[in-house]
Amino acid sequence: MAMKGKVSVNTENIFPIIKKFLYTDHEIFLRELISNAVDASQKLKVLAAKGEKVGETDDLKITVKIDESKKTITISDKGIGMTEAEIDKYINQIAFSGAEEFVEKFKDDKDSANIIGHFGLGFYSSFMVADKVEIDTLSYQDGAVAAHWTCEGTTDFKITKGKRKSRGTDIILHINSENEDFLKSYKISELLNKYCKFLPVEIEFEDKVINDTTPLWKKSPSDLKEEDYTEFYKKLYPFAEAPLFWIHLNVDYPFNLTGVLYFPKIKKDIDPNRNKIQLYSNQVYVTDNVEDIVPEYLMLLHGVIDSPDIPLNVSRSALQADGNVKKITGHISKKVADKLNDLKKENQKDFEDKWANISLFVKYGMISDEKFYDRVKDICLVKDTDGNFTYLNDFVEKVKPLQTDKNNNTILLYATDADAQYSYIQKAKDKGYEVLLMDEIIDNHFISNMEQKLENVQMKRVDADIASKLIEKDETSESVMSSEDVEKLKGRFETVLDKEKFNVETTVSTPDDDFLTITRSEWERRMSEMQGMGGMSMFGGFPEKYTVSINTNHPLSGKVADADETTSNEIMLNAIDLAKLSQNLLKGKDLNDFVQRQMKNLQEA
Ligand code: ADP
Repeated sequence: MAMKGKVSVNTENIFPIIKKFLYTDHEIFLRELISNAVDASQKLKVLAAKGEKVGETDDLKITVKIDESKKTITISDKGIGMTEAEIDKYINQIAFSGAEEFVEKFKDDKDSANIIGHFGLGFYSSFMVADKVEIDTLSYQDGAVAAHWTCEGTTDFKITKGKRKSRGTDIILHINSENEDFLKSYKISELLNKYCKFLPVEIEFEDKVINDTTPLWKKSPSDLKEEDYTEFYKKLYPFAEAPLFWIHLNVDYPFNLTGVLYFPKIKKDIDPNRNKIQLYSNQVYVTDNVEDIVPEYLMLLHGVIDSPDIPLNVSRSALQADGNVKKITGHISKKVADKLNDLKKENQKDFEDKWANISLFVKYGMISDEKFYDRVKDICLVKDTDGNFTYLNDFVEKVKPLQTDKNNNTILLYATDADAQYSYIQKAKDKGYEVLLMDEIIDNHFISNMEQKLENVQMKRVDADIASKLIEKDETSESVMSSEDVEKLKGRFETVLDKEKFNVETTVSTPDDDFLTITRSEWERRMSEMQGMGGMSMFGGFPEKYTVSINTNHPLSGKVADADETTSNEIMLNAIDLAKLSQNLLKGKDLNDFVQRQMKNLQEA
């Protein structure tokens, strides 16, 4: 007996909408249909385990076949199958209203890519690529009769007697002309490899099983060796360098989460392709865009997370607010922190060796996640300009005696470029100070964040002031110059320097300290750097301002004050150029003039 009818009574036709929207993600039809086939096969196993009579269950291979001449794709399983009544209930009613709801919810979403994973359209996603879909199925139930369902992309369907002789289901898609690409074998291979590589039931395409039914992350960590992890990594990222270490995620309660996250070697120039973590749901690939699930600072990690508890048919903003997602994010962050602590405990030397490759994301995490900060603050390493590593806490304690200023702030000195700031580093070291090297792209933020978090600690770049004033103490030195001469000296410098750019100050140092030093205050530099990053546009252009410090106790100071104008000008010009040169400020025409002048001097000498 043939049954005819409408899939739902009071509905507008959802098929044109299905066909049109999610346009870029038409390919997900294959994932949806194969997932159904996997479900049907797994249900059968469950029934068999319960002792039901279901027939043979050893070979439940699912096959995918393309017939280019007939323009069909057929997905066949040996699962539980459906009776005619079940087709009517599950396909015509439940699945249809599910699809309808899905379409209703998202049809006005201009950015349909916003829906994570595009789960929820289910069986009816086949109409994104097919004009006509057939189901040929035979239920496992005793005495069941094969049933056949067809629908040509309208709300009309037809159920008749089917031809299938053995238990299971064939889904036959008659691919429409816009989607004939899917009839190409390479295309299907590509999609199977993307979505189905780790499905728990064997999938066969062109006589080859394409999947690994028990991927590493589903195995028990105690059964796995180091090689298993590195091999799996290679499978995921054939071209990547071996990972540094990894964590195996395995939670049942209060949410289900499995997965393996690898810590790659991070190069200085970060790989802009951050989509390296793949999200699965029960071994079905969902997306490699996990931005809202994995904390931002862990996006540099590689690997797989698998959780059926992440809602996949919601928008990204809803995802961030989801309770389970928050718990999962928190769990991952804790696991990563624990792993780092374990590594340090197990082998401190090894941990320190790995630091260069992980410091970037550890620092990022410390800045952006309070809890993570608390968990790793004791294992955060800092490097000095000689390449020695010290734990940040120890470093602060170590420099405290010498580097605490009169206001009781411990000043941590740092350089951002060991070559460019060489002379300043040396001057600071001569005073017995320690200088950190903060040359990672994150360090700007890290520095200001640490100042907020560490009490009575301030950070200053070595060229923020002359060495004797970097850490302000209550000491004063005697000037050998009279105050009139100091004024004269200062005035002479002011006449040869650009006032807009240079501020002149006199300082009393020792005669063997530099005559002139050009510095830029820590505050000024940071403001200007922030502006450079686009954070300060409200201030308009931030002027570049430097301080020229003249050491009045240097023999040249007396000379400049006493000499005739020509001589003193010449000394000042050369001294200024030399000071600029050491701060990397002498450029273009000025640099050329300076070089020419020196050449001439050489010739005349
Ligand atoms: P979902 O899989 O989310 O339930 P679908 O629209 O994909 O939604 O499928 C609807 C229902 O149709 C399934 O729940 C299942 O009962 C039935 N079904 C679909 N495909 C198969 C299949 N290959 N074998 C047996 N039943 C199936």
